[in-house]
Amino acid sequence: MQVKKDETPVSATHVDVLIVGAGISGVGSAYHLQQQCPDKSYVILEMKDTFGGTWETHKYPGVRSDSDLYTFGYRFKPWIGAPIASAEEILKYMGEVIDESGLDEHIRYGHRITGCSWSSSTNLWTVVATRLADGATCNFTCNFLWMCQGYYDHENPYLPDWPDMDKYKGLFVHAQLWDPAIDYTNKRVLVIGSGATAATVIPAFAEKAAHVTMLQRSPTYFFCGENKNEMADRLREIGIDEPTIHRVVRAQIMHDQDLMTRRCLAEPDVVFEELKALIRQYAGEDFQFEPHFTPRYRVWQQRLAFCPEGDVFKAAADGKLTVVTDTLDTFTETGVRTRSGEEIEADIIVAATGFQLSVMGDIPFDVDGKPVDWHDTINYRGMMFTDVPNLVWVFGYFRASWTLRVDMLGDFVCNLLNHMDEIAAKRVQVALRDEDQDMPILPWIEKDNFNPNYLMRGIDRLPQRGSKPEWRHNQDYWNEREEIPTTDLDGAEFVYDGERRVGSGGVKASAG
Ligand SMILES: Cc1cc2nc3c(=O)[nH]c(=O)nc-3n(C[C@H](O)[C@H](O)[C@H](O)COP(=O)(O)OP(=O)(O)OC[C@H]3O[C@@H](n4cnc5c(N)ncnc54)[C@H](O)[C@@H]3O)c2cc1C
Repeated sequence: MQVKKDETPVSATHVDVLIVGAGISGVGSAYHLQQQCPDKSYVILEMKDTFGGTWETHKYPGVRSDSDLYTFGYRFKPWIGAPIASAEEILKYMGEVIDESGLDEHIRYGHRITGCSWSSSTNLWTVVATRLADGATCNFTCNFLWMCQGYYDHENPYLPDWPDMDKYKGLFVHAQLWDPAIDYTNKRVLVIGSGATAATVIPAFAEKAAHVTMLQRSPTYFFCGENKNEMADRLREIGIDEPTIHRVVRAQIMHDQDLMTRRCLAEPDVVFEELKALIRQYAGEDFQFEPHFTPRYRVWQQRLAFCPEGDVFKAAADGKLTVVTDTLDTFTETGVRTRSGEEIEADIIVAATGFQLSVMGDIPFDVDGKPVDWHDTINYRGMMFTDVPNLVWVFGYFRASWTLRVDMLGDFVCNLLNHMDEIAAKRVQVALRDEDQDMPILPWIEKDNFNPNYLMRGIDRLPQRGSKPEWRHNQDYWNEREEIPTTDLDGAEFVYDGERRVGSGGVKASAG
């Protein structure tokens, strides 16, 4: 689709709702707002020149989803294709949503938000953005801020502080900053890292490179399988319509994932044996799991990366990929040396070392002139914050598809906005109830539940949480899909215009 040229007036623009970011969260949220709150005016501010967020930023070879698009796609737009999709296919899908729903009219590209200030005297947010094309400062005011800015810095990836990087004479690049013009044909490529990015890039490199080496500090779990959904294919074959196929296949996948998650917790060793059996189907019965493919963490603690057609393991079995499990000690002129003294030579070194956490897009916020330190706030169900009015943050799932939560929070926010109109409230914020006063306040990330490195590195910048379900983002879709839609919007945790409405009859945030 064609991205429209920006023509925002520099003078202040007022909207009911301002959505930050035109990634998969921002686009989905805008769709729900338009459908469920048709009278609300809104704008999406996006600093890039186009939509897509993550799927536009990452351009390394083979970039693809690692969860299926039946659930990573939106509830309202059928996915027609193989479950694991390339970035290009995801962008095409998002472009169709934008086109079909006329969202483009509302997106202001090339606007980097540099500040958000809440005023309790006007009950408005003032959002200041720089229009990147000409450096103009654009001011917006809005009643409600819908934060869909993702969770990592798109421009500055995470790079450990390695010694002597400047000695290296080859080409060094972080996967997040990969330029598609780089030619790796017949080159020796070293990939540092073992997460989903490494798993994606390695099979793509292995096709053309002279050899690929993966240097990992510790191994990762992988789920190997065919990139197809038999139920979807069969339903299509017998002529079932796409919206029905989408609904049924989503239900099937979510059911299977639920089962898998519970089994990971109940019988992690059995699950690991099953994962190994799947790998053997692609890499052969003799495939060696020790030491490079036996992770140290428990199987539910980080995203279980899907490996379509076992491509990483096939590359290893075919001798195109060598895995080294060790710590990088130093860079050399020709590659790197590991702590155990192994020299790895490479023409290209690709760091697949992950993200730099960005909390709320690193935008400075203030409430009535007082700067917001997110770590001082307590997070309501991973979406609202004590002492920060009229703002919702979309932080999706990691164990299930991120977007399941975009749809779920879309319903929640629209119901909240409609409820505020019904009771003529201008301001909503969450506050601990009487019964929460003695609740233990804990770090946002629950180390035993879910602990990716980039979140752990930024734990002091993330909000805090309470021990009760209302004050946690527990990463459990199957539990939240019961709890979030049935939330009583007149519960004591919601304060409207400075007052609680407990006993007013209650309105549920049920799906719209
Ligand atoms: C390579 C890769 C593969 C992934 N695969 C999957 C997967 O298969 N399944 C899954 O569930 N999850 C996956 N994830 C996680 C993924 O990031 C999320 O699922 C999802 O795409 C995040 O979407 P988002 O819209 O919330 O954030 P983003 O995609 O990060 O988009 C946020 C947008 O906000 C904009 N923005 C940020 N700050 C500002 C500002 N100050 N002013 C204006 N605009 C701003 C950014 O430019 C960006 O366009 C993957 C992540 C990566 C990196």
